[in-house]
Amino acid sequence: MGSVKDYFSSLGTGVASLLKGMSVTGKEFRTPKITERYPENRETVHVPQRFRACLELVYDAEGRHKCIACGTCERACPNGTIKLDIDTIETWDGKKKKHLAGYNYDLGSCTFCQLCATNCPTNALTFSNDFEQAVFTRDKLVKQLKYRPDIPEPEPSEEEKKRILAEREAKLAAAKAAAEAKKAAAAAAPAKDASPTNAVQQPKADEAPKQDPLAKALAAAAGDPEKLAKIKAAMAAKAAREAAKGNK
Ligand code: SF4
Ligand code: SF4
Repeated sequence: MGSVKDYFSSLGTGVASLLKGMSVTGKEFRTPKITERYPENRETVHVPQRFRACLELVYDAEGRHKCIACGTCERACPNGTIKLDIDTIETWDGKKKKHLAGYNYDLGSCTFCQLCATNCPTNALTFSNDFEQAVFTRDKLVKQLKYRPDIPEPEPSEEEKKRILAEREAKLAAAKAAAEAKKAAAAAAPAKDASPTNAVQQPKADEAPKQDPLAKALAAAAGDPEKLAKIKAAMAAKAAREAAKGNK
């Protein structure tokens, strides 16, 4: 009897399990598909904008980039993925300026940490989300990000140049005059002996000047002629002693 009961019990459990499995399968039938049929859907595939596929220099509509060749990205990269070629150019006013001659980026060693882009002071770098970066040899993963020719910066007009140069000259002259005035003031000041024993102790600004003890005693004895006479006699004796010391 017991075995018949066990039979129907396990039959019920099996049917319940089957229904549960079929409900999961039915639910998945109605869920939108997330699997992409790549490369058939290459034209329509959606890659999230934040996906980091490859580092790029940002160029504006005229083909200018914002890199100032400071080298921060190269130093920030933990893998040595970035190698910059930096040279120097001369601007219209004769100043030397760093110039980006080449930006070598090895995609094969990049870990997409984005330290280079986040540390760039001019936001000259970004990541593209172009995920199709497969190549047959590793050397093809080394990319030249500065692939556009340089576009010269627009120079200021002749009047503007004159104004800038005049301002610079005036600033230089003012700095020179200030330095010379400082030098002259230092030369005119009395030479001070810096040794601690001979250093002149200047009273602190917030300290009240101390009253001479003799003047204090004279003031206290103002109404007492006998006391006054004693103090004056003591002062005379002290003066005589000091005069005697000076004559030795
Ligand atoms: S940190 Fe930015 S500005 Fe500096 S070298 Fe790199 S890309 Fe250029
Ligand atoms: S993302 Fe990271 S590893 Fe890649 S180049 Fe930038 S700093 Fe280097």
